[in-house]
Amino acid sequence: MSLLTNFTVQDELFMRMALDQARLAGRMGEVPVGAVIVRNERPLVLAHNLREASQDPLGHAELLAIRAAAQALGNWRLEGCTLYVTLEPCPMCAGAIQQARLSRVIFGARDERAGCCGSIYRIPEDPALPGFCPCDGGLLEAECAQIMSEFFRGRLGSAPKTVGSGDEKDFERTGGRLK
Ligand SMILES: [Zn+2]
Repeated sequence: MSLLTNFTVQDELFMRMALDQARLAGRMGEVPVGAVIVRNERPLVLAHNLREASQDPLGHAELLAIRAAAQALGNWRLEGCTLYVTLEPCPMCAGAIQQARLSRVIFGARDERAGCCGSIYRIPEDPALPGFCPCDGGLLEAECAQIMSEFFRGRLGSAPKTVGSGDEKDFERTGGRLK
């Protein structure tokens, strides 16, 4: 992950598709994270977080996109595919990225608390693991982070307290960049 990375206009276009997915998730009351998998410069699948609706701990946007892309291709190896996601992938998704043999990951907002594509770990680029996948972050970072902060601010404002969910506090703990 380098600050010197030059993203292309096309990268930005795909991240905007992921942002649209994130907004869809937010309107459903899901933590607003969206993902797009691109192959041959075309979007192959779109997905957004569905953890609440599905009550599935594996319901993150990235995992849903990876599974749908593998089904679409009839191949679990997603070589040649790029994943665009609005938030830096968590340990679970970073493991799946590495398992799926994706060729590249581009994410928007960094997650300094749980991000595993550069913030606390760098799982897809770990040379100890098979399936090296380069990760670049910070594309449309301000917009991607703003969707998150607005979502959590809205939830804090409308509900007295969300019992059983530590998400708001967790988000505040991520500090600086995502506020
Ligand atoms: Zn995840």
